[in-house]
Amino acid sequence: MRLVAPLLASVTLCIALPARAELDVPILKSAIETSVESNYDHLDALYKDIHAHPEIAFQEVRTAAKLAAEMRALGFEVTEQVGKTGLVAIYQNGSGPTVMVRTELDALPMEEKTGLPYASQDKQTWNGRETFVAHSCGHDIHMASWVGTAKTLVGMKDKWQGTLMFIAQPAEEIVSGAKAMLADGLFTRFPKPDFGFALHDGAFAYGNVSYRVGIGSSAVNGLFIKFRGRGGHGAMPQTTIDPVMMAARFVVDVQSVISREKDPTEFGIVSIGAIHAGTAGNIIPDEARLVGTIRSFKPQVRDKLLAGIERTAKAVAAMADAPPPEINMDEGAKAVMNDPAVVGSAEKVLKAAFGDKFNATPPGTASEDYSEFIDAGVPSMFFNIGVYEPERVAAARKGGPPLPSNHSPQFAPVPKPTITTGVTAMTLAVLSVFDQRARGQ
Ligand SMILES: [Zn+2]
Ligand SMILES: [Zn+2]
Repeated sequence: MRLVAPLLASVTLCIALPARAELDVPILKSAIETSVESNYDHLDALYKDIHAHPEIAFQEVRTAAKLAAEMRALGFEVTEQVGKTGLVAIYQNGSGPTVMVRTELDALPMEEKTGLPYASQDKQTWNGRETFVAHSCGHDIHMASWVGTAKTLVGMKDKWQGTLMFIAQPAEEIVSGAKAMLADGLFTRFPKPDFGFALHDGAFAYGNVSYRVGIGSSAVNGLFIKFRGRGGHGAMPQTTIDPVMMAARFVVDVQSVISREKDPTEFGIVSIGAIHAGTAGNIIPDEARLVGTIRSFKPQVRDKLLAGIERTAKAVAAMADAPPPEINMDEGAKAVMNDPAVVGSAEKVLKAAFGDKFNATPPGTASEDYSEFIDAGVPSMFFNIGVYEPERVAAARKGGPPLPSNHSPQFAPVPKPTITTGVTAMTLAVLSVFDQRARGQ
């Protein structure tokens, strides 16, 4: 590990950020970028190490230990095992607001196929079976940006006053880690933040930052259905009740809930991602299990989808003269709602820093359990950063090779510009609310 404080100090001494004054954004931005540049080798090594050794939800032991060591080296007070594998890092710097910055720790149960020299070849046990693990959602980019932001803010500690609360959350991919941290006293054992920020990377051009006012991501409900039939010989279907037939009929019919029952001007999705049934071609199995996901923005739309899905599943079973199916539609996470005041103060600064590369976009259809922290009373801004070469993005728009999205085995951010943008945008966002409070706004 390199010692970075002297470098940061030399870079940041020249920044003019007097209390009760507007942020001088262009000077600040270039100072942040210079500090990232001087520390980049360290961040790059951290990123590639985490990328090569991903860990799945609630198993992020090595990853959490690495981040804990990074934050302790920067002078943060670190508490580990908050919400199983999560950690909380606090840095007090005088009186002022408490600002939370969140990263995720977890990776996905899938095989990476990027061919990168630092590609993951690691495996872990997931739901009782061994699986490859990969950082195909880019949470490793978030972690490197999180550490880089902490280094930068500590290096600028004469420019702000208050408390930094950097949290590393486990198990975002199964939308359980935020709940686990809250249940473990995140806002009772530690200060409750006045403001919160999180970022996520995505398949657009690096150097770009996008954000939303209001709804930022969809609500998610998990979907699990078990159709119960009667097993038997594939050549004697009359002696069976075929659950594969029920599963197939359901997968098709359930889309009529979306196309015929839901208001077409409202957002809602039902996707079936996994079907498990049977072992051989000549055996009709006795059950079929479907696993899917349900997405919506508004509670009334979600309620309509859940009712239609349940009715369709029961009707499909009734048609086959089968027993009622087992249906489970757990609530995974609510929609992320960005706070207008937090967005308002950060967007001025980010617009000044990124110009036409900082844009408001429509709500995203992915889901995020960062909504749990917002629901617990932390006014927040959740924003996105791009990961790909602008030329590749432009070529894809003109019909060239499509860009692998998050969760693709080919998802491969360009590390340096992506992490630099992550650190720059997050540092400026955090400073914008320190500054806001300092000016009594
Ligand atoms: Zn993901
Ligand atoms: Zn993610």
